[in-house]
Amino acid sequence: MRIVVSDCLRGVACRYDGGSKPSEAVLSLCSRTDALGVCPEREAGLPVPRPPAEQRDGGVWSADGTDLTAAFARGAQVCLSMAQEHGAPLAVLKEKSPSCGPSCVYDGTYSGRLINGAGVFARLLRKEGVCVVSEDIVKACKPSVEHPVAIVLGTGLGHLATLVRPVRRIDYHDIDDFPAEARPMEGHRFEATIGTVDDVPVIVYPGRIHLYQGYSASQVSALVRHAHRLGARDIIFACATGAVEGNAHMGLGIISDQINLTGRNPLAEWDEIRDVESPFVDMTDAYSPYLRTLARGVADDAGIAVEEGVYAGVLGPCMETKAEAAMMRTMGVSYAGMSMICEVIMARALGMNVLGLTLATNMAGEGATHDTVAETATHYAEDFERLVRGVLRLL
Ligand code: SF4
Repeated sequence: MRIVVSDCLRGVACRYDGGSKPSEAVLSLCSRTDALGVCPEREAGLPVPRPPAEQRDGGVWSADGTDLTAAFARGAQVCLSMAQEHGAPLAVLKEKSPSCGPSCVYDGTYSGRLINGAGVFARLLRKEGVCVVSEDIVKACKPSVEHPVAIVLGTGLGHLATLVRPVRRIDYHDIDDFPAEARPMEGHRFEATIGTVDDVPVIVYPGRIHLYQGYSASQVSALVRHAHRLGARDIIFACATGAVEGNAHMGLGIISDQINLTGRNPLAEWDEIRDVESPFVDMTDAYSPYLRTLARGVADDAGIAVEEGVYAGVLGPCMETKAEAAMMRTMGVSYAGMSMICEVIMARALGMNVLGLTLATNMAGEGATHDTVAETATHYAEDFERLVRGVLRLL
């Protein structure tokens, strides 16, 4: 996978103060990818060291009063051309910089105050469709023994659990809030495995319960709270869905967003959930743009056919009618399913980074049996496994 990185994060001494800001997490990502280092301010011909610069009134000014607006625009344009030539869908840039800052910059008073906003180069990249993230996002998504990656698998996708080198197994019935009477459906297993996949620490949950079985939104999201208590910060959800004609095909998909059509929400039971601080959770970018871009990069590199689209969660258990499928099509839905919605809400409430993957095993509105779902899942099992392992290796 090709990425673009602020050179100072790679240890290159190009900052205004003559130094650099190497990030271990970014260096680790660079070692696993084809990384191109860029420095827009260097490309603008600015010297090192130089007076600090900040954004003000739509321009960029240095602390000695020089208007650097044109120079910053020039440097950003040169680096954009380099990024495009490299073919990078992802840029990891230094936060706070008036050139690179992905989400905040200094406010132009040279007093150290930060405001929301992006650097000149970061804005330019986003306009061209590149996913721009800060070094903090890369660090926050980096797994370790203390912060394993949680993976929750759905119907027909449980095979991935067999790849784990196990350290410990946990019966779901020993998990807080998981209903004692719940028994696994066909294709699910109620035993979490803690261990590693390709040396990456993971906790794999090879099955789940559903709202349509009569469980509450809080109960169906119990595994997420369990993973969070075990230290997981990244969580990969996988489920079988129906592809909505016109918006998606059968096969693998990366979920970009969700629409909750279940009428349930675990945060409505907030009083009883001790792990969540506030029920008013920001669901913008609920599915991490960074993780989605990594998944897309893995798929492209490995030649795995994968689409991307919005997931609509319905209560079930009956399949969608043709009218419902047509409605979803006009709503911009690509995938319809009966799980994951409440889990993703809970994961975001806990501040976890979510990657949603789906296998569309049938066309929405055309019906499917458990057998056809399982059969299609078997057909795509190898690609699904390569996709998940590829993402784990990049983290
Ligand atoms: Fe680092 Fe970007 Fe500033 Fe160059 S312009 S020093 S790469 S933050």
